Amino acid sequence: MKTPTITSPAAHQDRFLRAFESNTDRRHAKWAEGTTCAACGAAFVGGRWIWTEAPQTGPQTTCDACTRIEANTPAGELRLEGAFLADHQDEIMGLIRNEADAEGADHPLNRLMGVVEADGALVVTTTDIHLPRRIGHALERAYQGELALDYQAAEEIVRAVWHRD
Ligand SMILES: [Zn+2]
Repeated sequence: MKTPTITSPAAHQDRFLRAFESNTDRRHAKWAEGTTCAACGAAFVGGRWIWTEAPQTGPQTTCDACTRIEANTPAGELRLEGAFLADHQDEIMGLIRNEADAEGADHPLNRLMGVVEADGALVVTTTDIHLPRRIGHALERAYQGELALDYQAAEEIVRAVWHRD
């Protein structure tokens, strides 16, 4: 008798994110040690992008985040919906910026691209696939509501929706 495989949503998400990253992201690509981004100054040191004041001797390039910002091709999108938004826009914007700053301090390629209002919703776009989930969970912790993550579609972008009436 075959034992059915039970996949937890979290495991599914992690697998999806790993696959997505290797398909669409160049962050693990073959950058030479000490490569710097000419646009933002992030440096590729010890196998990852970091912020550093130390002078680097590697070649210059444009990092994945700056490339996405230039081309306006976000990797992640979080849509905020519901009546709750209207009265709490300032604090919600503050939360979004705080989460983005905290994420970006450790991960230079994970950045906010934009926050635009569209039909009463707020649409947050990011250069990476992790920030929408991070901000979505922070919204849940602060204001409850419901977070839905869409990792099913074989798209070039990770989508999430947070909703509170
Ligand atoms: Zn850059």
